[in-house]
Amino acid sequence: MDGLRKFPTRPTGAGETFQLFRDGTPRTRAWLMAETGHSRSTVAARIDALVRIGVLAPTGEASSTGGRPPATFAFEPSARVVLGVDLGATRARVGLTDLAGKLLAELDELVAITDGPRAVLEWVADTAEKLLAQVGRTIRDLAGVGIGVPGPVDHTTGRPVNPPIMPGWNDVDVPQMLSARLGVPVAVDNDANIIALGEQRTIYPGERELLFVKVATGIGAGILMDGELRRGAQGAAGDIGHLSLAGHQDVLCRCGNYGCLEAVASLSSIAAHLSAETGEPVTTDDVVARVRVGDVRANSHVRQAGRDIGMALASAVNLLNPSRIVVGGHLALAGDQLIAGIREIVYQRCMPLATARLQITTARAGNNAGIVGAATLVIDHFLAPEAVEGLILSKEA
Ligand SMILES: [Zn+2]
Repeated sequence: MDGLRKFPTRPTGAGETFQLFRDGTPRTRAWLMAETGHSRSTVAARIDALVRIGVLAPTGEASSTGGRPPATFAFEPSARVVLGVDLGATRARVGLTDLAGKLLAELDELVAITDGPRAVLEWVADTAEKLLAQVGRTIRDLAGVGIGVPGPVDHTTGRPVNPPIMPGWNDVDVPQMLSARLGVPVAVDNDANIIALGEQRTIYPGERELLFVKVATGIGAGILMDGELRRGAQGAAGDIGHLSLAGHQDVLCRCGNYGCLEAVASLSSIAAHLSAETGEPVTTDDVVARVRVGDVRANSHVRQAGRDIGMALASAVNLLNPSRIVVGGHLALAGDQLIAGIREIVYQRCMPLATARLQITTARAGNNAGIVGAATLVIDHFLAPEAVEGLILSKEA
């Protein structure tokens, strides 16, 4: 029994008809008539409207069995460009993509988030202009800006909320500051969410239920259900780093609570453990370097961190039943011990139905996942049925 079948639905307006082109496959008018049940004249009018706003373009002719071959039309991703921004604690990555999320130009630089919103967002806007010039486009071609920040964001306003490593950013109206300069819509989200989205769209487009965990200085997660980010009521969903871990009630977290996962299993906490054991200062970069060369003591801590993260993830798996967990952040990429520890506990602690097809893998989308994910936030808004209808109306006005 595979649940209730969905009622058949037909795309009603041009905006919904356009969704049939999003996969990039060229279509003929006859195909659209059969698919939508609409008349020849309705289909022709929808295609004309979509071609007029630039998101659809004629692509030549389909093969035919004699007579004049029918014209085909396809999604035109170059109609606009989108800026994706991935702000980290010390490094910022900025990229331009087309409307299919393909990266056209990218730049990364050492930019300290602690320089504050005014300086950092100025730099983002300057970089946007530089990249636009580089690919031969202008600000008029820019559909919007998606931006990820290393801290919690109120999803309803795009404002960071008490971000621990972003002094000066609390409650700052990031969308307003950037759109005042660039004149386009701006979407803001936390870094785990944008990387989750980038990872899913580029590596696992077929997987609709995906959990992404970033293990770095802190620990955070992005939740994708039915192919879309789940942020909760305010944007706090996925804050797995502050789940309480049994048996660690003596460990103080930077949030003020005791026994948080982040205080027990993050890269910073492993560095602190190694410092205490060896009697010499150990940085987070040292931990990653030691793991890479197979240092036994470091690897044993990482394995244990994996088990601790596995405890939190086991609860998440029982609650959400994802089909894939992707583990990212530079500790995950340094070696296999983290993921081995996670697998050990998750498969042991979860209900059989929840783990029957569960895959747990290391992130694969690379350094640009955040840029692509941030751009995707904008693309999904820009190409949504209502937005496409709006573009058509504004063109007609
Ligand atoms: Zn905490």
